[in-house]
Amino acid sequence: MKKTFNPFLMAQEQFLKAAKKMNLDENIINILKEPQEALEVSIPIKTDSGKVKVFKGYRVHHNNARGPYKGGIRYHPNVTLEEVKALAMWMTWKCAVVGIPFGGAKGGVVCNPKQMSRREKEALTREYTRRMINFIGPLKDIPAPDVYTDSQVMAWIMDEYNKYTGNTTLGVVTGKPLAIGGSEGRHASTGKGLTVIVQEALKYLEMKPENTTAVIQGYGNLGHIAAEEMYKMGIKIIAVSDSKGGIYNPKGLNPLKVESFKQKTGSVVGFPDAKKITNEKLLQLKTDVLAPCALENVITSENASKIKAKIIAEGANGPTTPEAEKILLKKNVLIFPDILANAGGVVVSYFEWVQDMQGYFWELDEIHAKLDKIMTKAFWNVVDMAEKHKTDFRTAAYIFAIQKVAEAIEKRE
Ligand code: GLU
Repeated sequence: MKKTFNPFLMAQEQFLKAAKKMNLDENIINILKEPQEALEVSIPIKTDSGKVKVFKGYRVHHNNARGPYKGGIRYHPNVTLEEVKALAMWMTWKCAVVGIPFGGAKGGVVCNPKQMSRREKEALTREYTRRMINFIGPLKDIPAPDVYTDSQVMAWIMDEYNKYTGNTTLGVVTGKPLAIGGSEGRHASTGKGLTVIVQEALKYLEMKPENTTAVIQGYGNLGHIAAEEMYKMGIKIIAVSDSKGGIYNPKGLNPLKVESFKQKTGSVVGFPDAKKITNEKLLQLKTDVLAPCALENVITSENASKIKAKIIAEGANGPTTPEAEKILLKKNVLIFPDILANAGGVVVSYFEWVQDMQGYFWELDEIHAKLDKIMTKAFWNVVDMAEKHKTDFRTAAYIFAIQKVAEAIEKRE
């Protein structure tokens, strides 16, 4: 029987593996293995048909020892409290790995935004914001986009929050439109950050981008930008996919053309000059870099032994299960974990928040230079930690992050 996947147990397992390796104090283990608080809300909205539908929503605060809680909001039919708890914990580590002064949080609403009208999405977002009004704030908890939420959703949250406070508080959410305190470069930041990690990984392995191939699963905001950025670096993108399926061309794809095809048709599938491939087969292609950029639980004990990539750069949160990771590590696959590889988004969220709080906005090149510097530094910090503890990169990233969070907890005592 297929084991049901529980992302929170997976997050705890990853945490406990690192905690053991670093001999973490038991009191700190007990504090960090659970979220500090979790809010569950029911969100009734009037649908376009006139009927009232009630949605379930969550916001979880994992830890705020290093700064206000920070993390995205996900709209997806498969959202569960366990998933949001895992994602919140991962945010704590992510912010610590890259050294930005935030804790970890996450939110989610169980809904299918693809089947909702704009008016319904707005009503849902505004009501969800009202339900968590005392849970968020620029110095308390700062939401951002995640799977199937975007700058428009953030704009509604900001507007609703400001109706309540009576102030114009820009820094209550990040990932906003530029017109209302968003930051240059936020939209592309996760994909750009992932590309920096791949670039440094190639340096680490003494590989040249022009001799490197990449496969990217997921062609949303993250996947398509990562594909474009890697392509610009000279990497050959041999396959990409979205939720409807994938496309493969061993001679290489032009991600810009794929993106305009997807804009026109709604999917990458059907792109000319490429063979159709399933998402499952795509993961098993022979490639140097594999970047899962969709959802969690895609590289599992069932397919890990068939994965032929040298490097896995986790664009999505939680794509590799601990069982799969064991198999891959035995095969010497280098896994650059989500908490490092996809941190570019929250790094530019941090820049956005700083700009909002100061009311002073930076140019795009300044954002890019600062993002590059932070991601590169975090990459080599993790590599050093892996060498020091003779461990894999995920455990090394965790040890680095946990040390920072533990230090913050201890200093506050
Ligand atoms: N949702 C993104 C993540 O998982 C961004 C979070 C943020 O910017 O706060 O990292």
